[in-house]
Amino acid sequence: MIKRIAMVDERRCVSCGACVKECPKGALSVKNGIHAFADPELCVGCGKCAKICPADCIRILDRPEPVPSVKAGTKRPRRWYDYLWIWTIIYFALGFFNIVFAWLGMIDFMVPILIALFGGDKWFCNNLCGRGQLLTVLGEKKKLSRNRPAPGWISSKAFRYGFLIFFLTMFGNMLFQTWLVFSGAASLRQAVKLFWTFRVPWSFAYTPGLVPDWIAQYSFGFYSIMLTSTLIGLIVMALYRPRTWCSFCPMGTMTQLICRLKHR
Ligand code: SF4
Ligand code: SF4
Repeated sequence: MIKRIAMVDERRCVSCGACVKECPKGALSVKNGIHAFADPELCVGCGKCAKICPADCIRILDRPEPVPSVKAGTKRPRRWYDYLWIWTIIYFALGFFNIVFAWLGMIDFMVPILIALFGGDKWFCNNLCGRGQLLTVLGEKKKLSRNRPAPGWISSKAFRYGFLIFFLTMFGNMLFQTWLVFSGAASLRQAVKLFWTFRVPWSFAYTPGLVPDWIAQYSFGFYSIMLTSTLIGLIVMALYRPRTWCSFCPMGTMTQLICRLKHR
């Protein structure tokens, strides 16, 4: 009988960690936040990891000779932080009732960067990202994903870094709008901007005067970014694999880059 083994294309892996959770043998791990690695002594070649990989960078190949012995492995146990997808739903619900709660999203913004900078890995993306988990719950468990491989360009370096630059530019623009309100050069706009284009009135979620105008302006801007990126994530989840968003998520690209630089 031909034995099979998972091989990760390290150059294309976006180190999202989706495969790690999927493997029934605990054979996969993400090395230094840079790429996944399949332990040949644990992998049984079932192919589950290849079916979930958003970057489509795992191939199941015949084992190279000599054949390593396959040790008994077990699926990674569930932990409390596997339920953080609930937090993502709570976050958007809170912003619907009071936009100032949008500031809580800064946790998802700062913690991955701090972990990458000081811990040198993508532990946040791999374990704590509520959005990635929500996409898995909806796409895989609720079967809302077509579960097809995404086009290769989505996880290409050019697109990933291009999207990161675009995202950072839009983030800078959001900070500039906040500055204009802070300095009195512009007035507060009680609207959420979807896809950086469509302005949706959101005044129902804010009582004027509750906080300084610039704090409210930042809330509207940040909530817009969080909602837009989640909607993009849901669209690509439906069209392709559940966690396709992770293959070009700006936070994931940025933290992988930090890890690469740290471990160079
Ligand atoms: S092929 Fe199966 S056992 Fe091997 S790494 Fe992938 S999920 Fe794990
Ligand atoms: S892109 Fe994600 S799912 Fe694919 S091999 Fe890398 S860590 Fe695993």
